[in-house]
Amino acid sequence: MKTAPEARLREERSLRHMLLKYEAILENASIGIGFTRDQRFEHVNPRFEEMLGWPRGTLAGQPGYVVWRSRREHAEIGAYVGPLLARGQSVDFEHEILRRDGGSFLARIRAKSVDPTHPTRGGTIWIVEDITEHRRSVEALRRAHDELEIRVRERTEALAEANARLRDEIAERETAERRIRHLAHHDVLTGLPNRRLLQKRLEQALAAAREDQGHAAVVFIDLDRFKTINDSLGHAVGDALLKAVALRLGEVLRPGDTVARFGGDEFVLVLGEAAGPEDAVAVADRLLECLSLPYDITGYSLRVTPSIGISVFPRDGEDAQTLLSRADAAMYHAKSDGRHCFRFFTEHIQRASTQRLQLENELHGAIARGELLLHYQPRFDLLHRELVAAEALVRWRHPRRGMISPAEFIPLAEETGLIHPIGRWVLEEACRQQRAWRERGFLPGSVAVNLSAQQFRSADLAGWVGTVIGDAGVDPRTIEIEITESTLMHDSGQTLATLRALASLGIRMSIDDFGTGYSSLAYLKRFPVHLLKIDRSFVRDIPADPDDATIVRAIAGLAASLGLRVVAEGVENEEQMRFLQGIGCDEGQGFLFAPAMPADELERRFARGSATRSAREC
Ligand code: C2E
Ligand code: MG
Ligand code: MG
Repeated sequence: MKTAPEARLREERSLRHMLLKYEAILENASIGIGFTRDQRFEHVNPRFEEMLGWPRGTLAGQPGYVVWRSRREHAEIGAYVGPLLARGQSVDFEHEILRRDGGSFLARIRAKSVDPTHPTRGGTIWIVEDITEHRRSVEALRRAHDELEIRVRERTEALAEANARLRDEIAERETAERRIRHLAHHDVLTGLPNRRLLQKRLEQALAAAREDQGHAAVVFIDLDRFKTINDSLGHAVGDALLKAVALRLGEVLRPGDTVARFGGDEFVLVLGEAAGPEDAVAVADRLLECLSLPYDITGYSLRVTPSIGISVFPRDGEDAQTLLSRADAAMYHAKSDGRHCFRFFTEHIQRASTQRLQLENELHGAIARGELLLHYQPRFDLLHRELVAAEALVRWRHPRRGMISPAEFIPLAEETGLIHPIGRWVLEEACRQQRAWRERGFLPGSVAVNLSAQQFRSADLAGWVGTVIGDAGVDPRTIEIEITESTLMHDSGQTLATLRALASLGIRMSIDDFGTGYSSLAYLKRFPVHLLKIDRSFVRDIPADPDDATIVRAIAGLAASLGLRVVAEGVENEEQMRFLQGIGCDEGQGFLFAPAMPADELERRFARGSATRSAREC
């Protein structure tokens, strides 16, 4: 049995032991622990003093406010914490705590009454933790997070931008591809489908017609005398006219039809969906009417008429190629029938176009086989009725077909480029003839040679003309070159240079078919030309037709004022001659005087008196 003092002793020992244990815990704790009573520190552990910069053992006894930045702050915290403590709650909060050296640090603070039943009397425990570092790392973490967010946002924006750019690029590429596809199938000038697309559409129309056992029609359109407009007024006007024509073609179009530019001044319409001959006639009539209305282009009121050829599926052909070439052949026929009309393809046209093709092949060897020859048509001075010149006009003596007119084969020669060797041969032959005549004492005045537009534009024209004349040993002043008005109007810079070069050789220049082009006075003044030949179409109906009479009189007046000689072409009767004499026209050429004839016949008929003419004319 243990005695009471023994038991108390043991109790005291164990109590002391416990106290020591708690003190050891308090002394070594890594957080600050303080104990206040009556707003004064009663006890603090070393870590508390260390955090606040108080020397060991100096904080105990200090008033509570020394750890706050002001007394007011102390009072505010007291007002906040006090009531909560009084209710027995522990209070957690973060606040700046003042160090003894005046600095401060951020602390996490927990306050709790020692005895919640007597919160004031029992005193308060303050647990203080310096969270500056913690706060700093949280801040750093937040900043890093914010930066990351900013970067992510920036990157997202950059990506969005790149994405938008990519989308733009894709859209651009798609537009470009669409454009390329469009260009591959459309004509750049008019925007109409081109040959390639035409072929496709025509084949589709034929397939549909085949399936329904219906019809389809190909309408081939060529503009009459478009070349004259293009040559006289320039390509810009020509282009604008083609665009205007394309627009009008679009107006005639019915749904399901196709209109395409076939090339140059040629357009093709494909009439699908049961378009039989009657439909084609209706469309052709409308085309003739609406395409022929005047076009208002850069200040010019221009008129062009179409010549139209039509082929119908399945009657005239089964496939696209055949139908196109047959509509083309029919169009040619419309042209040779006087233009501004339409023609259906027929067997007769088929034969004619085959013949044309054959003629073209035969023309290739015509010079070599000696089938070309020149006839000469005299030109007369109207005052004295004297021979002043002879125009060389080429003919083709065809072995089977007999004499072929230049009106038939010159256009063919121009299309095939054969005009160059033919034209050269004509000049050589005309020069040879002029020399031969002179050597025999026959002086017909000058010999005039026609030059086609293509020859006129060939490189170094004056060079080879000079050589031919020189080689023939004739005086260049006895050679005249005729070029048409439309040739003259083409590309005036080059034209002027060529004309000057020819004139410097001593050759005389005439403007043939004058009045059919669109030449202006300003042009004529600039060019070194000597003679205007009034086109036959104006002479034919004078003096009865008052318009023609006015035109012829005006041309004669214009020529006189420019110091040019003027010749009337196609003079066929005395009435015309008297009128021409009356208006002061210098010369005439036509059946009234003589048609074109072989050289020896001309010499035979006009040799008499040639000696006197030679003195005056040459
Ligand atoms: P052009 O140069 O205007 O020649 C005049 C044409 O009118 C000639 O026709 C001539 O026979 C014809 N003619 C002459 N007087 C009369 C008349 O009173 N009444 C009628 N109705 N006609 C008349 P041709 O010989 O058939 O020549 C036609 C065209 O062929 C020429 O027209 C010319 O543009 C071209 N041509 C002829 N020979 C050549 C040539 O060697 N080279 C070139 N590039 N073209 C030529
Ligand atoms: Mg002529
Ligand atoms: Mg003429």
